[in-house]
Amino acid sequence: MSKIIVTGGCGYIGSHTVIALIDQGYKVVVFDDFSNASEDTLDRIAKITGIRPLFTRVDLKEKIKVLEAFNEHKEAKAVIHFAAYKAVKESINNPLDYYENNLFSLINVLNAQQAVGINNFIFSSSATVYGMPESFPMTENSPVKRPFSPYGNTKKIAEEILEDYTNANTKLSFISLRYFNPIGAHDSGHIGELPSGIPNNLMPYITQTAAGLRDKLWVFGDDYPTKDGTAVRDYIHVVDLAEAHLAALQYLMKNQQKANYEIYNLGTGQGYSVLEVIKSFELANNLRLNYEITSRREGDVAVMYASTDLAKQVLGWSAKRDLKSMVASAWKWEQNFRK
Ligand code: UDP
Repeated sequence: MSKIIVTGGCGYIGSHTVIALIDQGYKVVVFDDFSNASEDTLDRIAKITGIRPLFTRVDLKEKIKVLEAFNEHKEAKAVIHFAAYKAVKESINNPLDYYENNLFSLINVLNAQQAVGINNFIFSSSATVYGMPESFPMTENSPVKRPFSPYGNTKKIAEEILEDYTNANTKLSFISLRYFNPIGAHDSGHIGELPSGIPNNLMPYITQTAAGLRDKLWVFGDDYPTKDGTAVRDYIHVVDLAEAHLAALQYLMKNQQKANYEIYNLGTGQGYSVLEVIKSFELANNLRLNYEITSRREGDVAVMYASTDLAKQVLGWSAKRDLKSMVASAWKWEQNFRK
């Protein structure tokens, strides 16, 4: 049973991945500081899997503490690094917090994993590194551009750091996974997305509006060059995303890499407009959502969806869950949580 270190394992994508790892028999160690997650996520994971992951509370900005935490788990075979701040708007208002948190943490984790001799590493990146794209779908070879937000730029810079670092250390096996738009929740309804404050993202804004926490959903723009004028994204079920991490990990552990740093898109390859997501949510959950069209949100792109061929060919992974399953599970989680 290999031990895997998961930073940010109590967060949204991290917690779903921890469950997938435990279900496959991995021994999981979570490093989290609860800056944007709750400790009871560990109990929720235990409720679902029957196993409470090992846990160390650590602020990854603290170099010495990170090293100590890694020293406790030297025998780990891989690190999956989720821990990061992720609110776009907040990052525009507090750029230094984002650069400090997301990049210092990454560097400290890299130094610590090298110090204890762990060579396998998976990084949470984002489709935001494609910036304002010119053609679709996005392949891993599409140009990387300056993202609109400091949050997005931390992902771009992190990828550059990983590229330089793996160039200098050929025995390392690293993967960056570029997520498109993760939504949905675990089937059990026990874990899901839990944004702090007013949500920035579409899905939690929809579920909170349906739950009565928000008056109405504002749809940002209906004058995009898309089928219904609203922006198109590649929404992917968070459980599919978790399974992709498992596939990437298994690939790393079998030493199948062609290059010691590889990048994969994680999406479904299918784009849906904001109005299609709303309609699907209403239909799947048999309710009406209060929404109104307003102006575009600054920095938003009209269309973004992935080419998923590479992950399929090389990792043997592709998304299985459809939009209905995404919106139904998101609503189940919101209702359970509000109870
Ligand atoms: N969106 C919206 N209203 C909201 C939040 C998001 O209309 O309250 C739209 C947003 O403009 C984008 C899509 O929903 O077209 C997905 O936005 P989200 O913030 O979830 O992800 P992004 O693709 O921006 O990272």
